[in-house]
Amino acid sequence: MTSSENIAECVVIGAGPAGLSAARTLSGLGRSVVVLDKGRGPGGRLSSRRTDETRFDHGCKELTFRDPETAPQLRSWIDAGVVSAWHPNMKGGSRSEPRFVGTPAMNNVIKHLARDLEVRFNTRVVELRPCEIGWEIIQQNGEIEALCRTVIVAIPAPQALDLLRPISFEGVKRIENVTFAGVWSVLLEGPHPDEVGFEAVIEPTREISWLAAQAGKPGRAPDGAWVALASEAWSDAHLEDDKHSVAEALGPICASALGIERPASVIAHRWRFGLTKTPLGVGTLLDRGVAVAGDWCLGPTIEDALRSGTAAARAIDENLAN
Ligand SMILES: Cc1cc2nc3c(=O)[nH]c(=O)nc-3n(C[C@H](O)[C@H](O)[C@H](O)COP(=O)(O)OP(=O)(O)OC[C@H]3O[C@@H](n4cnc5c(N)ncnc54)[C@H](O)[C@@H]3O)c2cc1C
Repeated sequence: MTSSENIAECVVIGAGPAGLSAARTLSGLGRSVVVLDKGRGPGGRLSSRRTDETRFDHGCKELTFRDPETAPQLRSWIDAGVVSAWHPNMKGGSRSEPRFVGTPAMNNVIKHLARDLEVRFNTRVVELRPCEIGWEIIQQNGEIEALCRTVIVAIPAPQALDLLRPISFEGVKRIENVTFAGVWSVLLEGPHPDEVGFEAVIEPTREISWLAAQAGKPGRAPDGAWVALASEAWSDAHLEDDKHSVAEALGPICASALGIERPASVIAHRWRFGLTKTPLGVGTLLDRGVAVAGDWCLGPTIEDALRSGTAAARAIDENLAN
């Protein structure tokens, strides 16, 4: 790959909300962009997982915006039909304030953000190699996946450091201060929420921070699929446990929160870098045509990821112009 038409002005690593908002911004400014992601398909932390019987949003549980009324991105997703308001019937009888979820699954937000962009999945980036025109992007089999003038690294901070330390990126020390909380997520098949009497509950037990039915969320099947998120303390204490022992430990706790004897099935999934605890404090950092992006630059939510992605794109656009 040496001809100039194969040289992207920017390669974005990570097709999460941060990377895709960066790519959309750059593409809107007329820049050529390629997005690479290690996942099998669109999702990242907004993944949805299918079993034979049903489907679970087992990562990001809702789209948090500081002021949903005025968030233009949220409005545009609602208008495009990929996000809807959800008013779960909470345990105790109250109706929740609107919560916003992707429809018919969380990863539809990612599919929508990726539309019209060149996104290559199944591509794990393992190295950034400086070259005459800018950067060679090396993927897992050791081959050059792309040549580009600039790069946006839009993956969780600890994984970003694996790419940034070898090139002595100027901001490495600051990024090392970013911390994440791991989250264990539990996917259960049990009763329909009508039988249980509620659709969602916050902190039903010390071990669980959130338990919600898929049914009742807009566009989902009316089945007995539930997702529980373990509390920060429990997840932290059990982060290195294997998924079978976590399912064994949390299955009965969730069952008792649902008032049933045992769920029909329980699967556990670990998000090692689930939620930002200590953010970087700025939207992006830029050094020699490499910028960083991710929720972790600004906070723990999708809105933080989008804002960081836009900041990185603007920094790169300026860099390309100079
Ligand atoms: C359990 C859980 C609950 C959450 N709850 C909420 C909530 O209530 N509200 C809210 O707003 N947010 C919530 N979030 C957080 C939200 O999901 C994140 O803020 C958002 O996904 C961050 O986007 P991102 O683009 O920074 O990172 P990600 O979504 O993590 O995207 C990064 C992408 O990079 C890819 N990648 C990683 N390494 C490489 C590599 N070497 N090469 C190529 N690709 C790579 C990954 O496959 C992934 O697709 C939750 C997250 C979790 C896990």
